Amino acid sequence: MNTNTLLEKLQDDIVICAEGYVFELERRGYVKSGPYVPEVVLDYPDAVKELHREFVRAGSDVVLALTYYAHRDKMKVVGRELDAERLNRQAVRLAGEVARESGKLVAANICNTWVYDPGNPEETGKEVRAMYEEQLSWAVDEGVDYVVAETFDWFAEADIALDVIKGFNLPAVITFTAVTSTTADGYAFDDACRILSDKGADVVGLNCGRGPSTLLPVLAKVVESVQCPVAALPVAYRTDADHLSFIDLKQEGREAGFPAELDPFVLTRSEMAEFALAARDLGVRYIGVCCGGAPHHVRAMAEALGKEVPASRYSPDIAKHAVLGAEDVVKDYRTRFLKEHHETLFWIIGVRAIALTPIIKQGTSLVRSLP
Ligand SMILES: [Zn+2]
Repeated sequence: MNTNTLLEKLQDDIVICAEGYVFELERRGYVKSGPYVPEVVLDYPDAVKELHREFVRAGSDVVLALTYYAHRDKMKVVGRELDAERLNRQAVRLAGEVARESGKLVAANICNTWVYDPGNPEETGKEVRAMYEEQLSWAVDEGVDYVVAETFDWFAEADIALDVIKGFNLPAVITFTAVTSTTADGYAFDDACRILSDKGADVVGLNCGRGPSTLLPVLAKVVESVQCPVAALPVAYRTDADHLSFIDLKQEGREAGFPAELDPFVLTRSEMAEFALAARDLGVRYIGVCCGGAPHHVRAMAEALGKEVPASRYSPDIAKHAVLGAEDVVKDYRTRFLKEHHETLFWIIGVRAIALTPIIKQGTSLVRSLP
């Protein structure tokens, strides 16, 4: 393993990193929403490997071992604490296999623990440190290029993570989750990132929590504050000024939103591609997706950044679409059908709208908006 590979790549180019594994595998039926513990690594390893491959084909330069929420305390929540070592080792092995077959980097993964308690920082800090140390000792044993430590809301926890990673002499990518305006212990995110960068973090930044539009303003401050490369991996959900993070999203009239009812807010691939360009223009060097992100987002982002990736072979070509395509592709009878279909639709809606106009104003605007 070459420990400088990530840093060399960052000097030459933007590095793309796909995350969001637990959300995507939850959608596919392999991870339980709620605990979000990646039991899938042991129970359905092929599903994990498949997603690794899909993300690589879509343009990820990194295969991130699926050990998010695989620390001892979370494993306890699903009654599988005794499987912690087996799961962590297997996750790194699966990522390593895909990384080797595709020539990509393999990254170990540690994250926020929910164990750190500011009321008892000494004791709980030790517990957190012990969990990171055991996870990383297994990962290093299996072979990794660097470590992603992510989704931190406590600065104190991120600080412990950096210290443990540096103890293993590996490059560290440390990212905070900006669900609120500061870390849980009151640091502005740009300050938190600057301090960790000064302490030797190789890449700092933000992941998860916010979608592109609410992440970018915080990101701009981080880029201004630090010397090292900056990472940005938003969720692929439509957050806005009134809903800063995906935790705040809920469809009108529905009981639930986050985490399992977020489908109406998923961003399109071109919206994520626009984010990739905006982040690049800010000077961000490590760009990716977190929860909600899927391979089609990653491919669109990679292509927007000027990269051709294996899955580009099947990127959209609307010119070859049977109805919307170029003149030489669209058959006459299809166009005729479409025209007749539109005219029929116009007639039906038109008649109904006229009948309802006194009652429903929106009906008339619908008729006017028809081609
Ligand atoms: Zn996430």
